[in-house]
This record gives sequence, structure tokens and C-alpha cells, in this order.
Amino acid sequence: MNGAERLRARGLRVTRPRLAVLEVLAEGGHLEVEEIARRVRARLESVSTQAVYDVLAALSRAGLARRLEPAGSPARYEARTGDNHHHVVCRGCGEIGDVDCAVGAAPCLEPSTSHGFMIDEAEVTFWGLCGACQSRRVED
Ligand SMILES: [Zn+2]
Ligand SMILES: [Zn+2]
Repeated sequence: MNGAERLRARGLRVTRPRLAVLEVLAEGGHLEVEEIARRVRARLESVSTQAVYDVLAALSRAGLARRLEPAGSPARYEARTGDNHHHVVCRGCGEIGDVDCAVGAAPCLEPSTSHGFMIDEAEVTFWGLCGACQSRRVED
């Protein structure tokens, strides 16, 4: 499916900013809004950062983008949705990697107590130091 078809399939109107954001996200990675806005403006001039925020909110609600917000860093967005994958985040530089969910469906962890809640998701973030930050630390 191309971008327009994916938008229509989720009941969203097709607009050039929405198509541009989908294209940028399809390039991969976990991108900050400023970076997404910069790449969108390379395709379409005169799209405000606020417009990009609005598009990302609509795409997230529709399940076409996933928002993640590791503690202490700005929100990031990615195109990979619906597979309950997790993230590994570097404490040194903020680098983020995808970690496939071993179970594949939420919630993949069983809590020791649910407090009577019907649990539908476990948000798992692995924290550590990436390879580059480990070698930097050895040099220091
Ligand atoms: Zn790092
Ligand atoms: Zn991811």
C-alpha cells in the first residue's frame, strides 16, 4: 500500500503534509519531531513544526506511527507499529534500537499482581550503553 492508501484505509484524509511525514518515517529509525520537520520541509516548503506535531498526533491515533518517549529525552516517532516491539536506549547518547517482542503481542509480561486491572500492555525499555559510548568510556 502506498501512503495515500494507508491513510484512506485508516479513515484519514490524504494531505500532502501527511504523505510527507509518512515518507520520512518510512526512512526508518526513531526520529525527533525537529528532525521529521526538517526532512518534511526538504520535500514541502512552508510546513510549520506545529503542523508536523498535528500530523504525527493524527498518524499515531490511527496506528500509522508510534510515539515513544524515553525518560529524559524528547518524544520520538517511528513507522514500525502494531508489533509490540521494545526499545533499547543508550544512557550516554540516547541512541535507540528496536528489540523484537519475544511473545509478539501485548502484554508480553505477566505482572506479579494486576491490582484488578485488565492489563493490555507492558512498556519495556532496556537501558544501557551503546557500543560507541562503551569505547568512549574506556578511553576516558
Ligand atoms: Zn551511546
Ligand atoms: Zn522502535
